[in-house]
Amino acid sequence: MFLEIKDLKKSFGTAENRTEVLKGIDFSVEKGQICVLLGPSGSGKSTLLNIIGGIDQADEGYVSINGEKTADMKEKRLTQYRRRHLGYVFQMYNLIPNLSVRENIEVGAYLSDRPLELDELLKTLGLYEHRNKLPNQLSGGQQQRTAIGRAIIKNPDILLCDEPTGALDYKTSKEILCLIEQINQKYGNTVIMVTHNDAIKNMADRVVKLRDGQIRKNYVNETKIAAADLEW
Ligand code: ADP
Ligand code: MG
Repeated sequence: MFLEIKDLKKSFGTAENRTEVLKGIDFSVEKGQICVLLGPSGSGKSTLLNIIGGIDQADEGYVSINGEKTADMKEKRLTQYRRRHLGYVFQMYNLIPNLSVRENIEVGAYLSDRPLELDELLKTLGLYEHRNKLPNQLSGGQQQRTAIGRAIIKNPDILLCDEPTGALDYKTSKEILCLIEQINQKYGNTVIMVTHNDAIKNMADRVVKLRDGQIRKNYVNETKIAAADLEW
């Protein structure tokens, strides 16, 4: 299995006042799949994503990518993993305000030894005509497209998205989710995405529902697989 999460536990706080945020999380994702994480606010979704991303560490259990446990990676390898193999997209776009769309995306390319071709990516993102604009000249959807471009130009193995449409209206959210699906199909990156948007149901290969730090549901999306079978 490409991405394996095994009995992951995580607490925050002091010895007297501890909150167990993840209480033993198990699931796995195959290469190139889209896995959607659902769950109410505070259920541990971002914590889980941050542990997968090597930003935070688990107390128990492990995350393994291609058979390699992130906790066993030495400092240098972990930095390499974070920079080259992971792309991160957040609710807030965090673009650099005085750089153009093109330059904001190029920032991501410097971190990779196998970046995607910039002009082609700009076209896929629907940003080619806007490439010389500054972030404040863009709509929210265009800003998120730019942030997705910055994450994906590295051609990361895994794209982590934490509520990427949380700040967008319904229609724009749908467009952004479609873009993420299109990118997944074109470049084959494995996607782990936290979202509340119901447009997701058709695009997820796997759905994992969290509540109070535990998995309440974990299923393969048969509808998508059935639809894919019909395509040819
Ligand atoms: P979600 O993304 O599902 O809303 P989070 O993973 O952000 O949930 O948070 C889960 C719980 O962990 C929350 O109760 C939150 O307050 C707590 N938490 C998250 N990060 C920290 C931290 N760095 N220190 C202390 N508590 C934290
Ligand atoms: Mg969160």
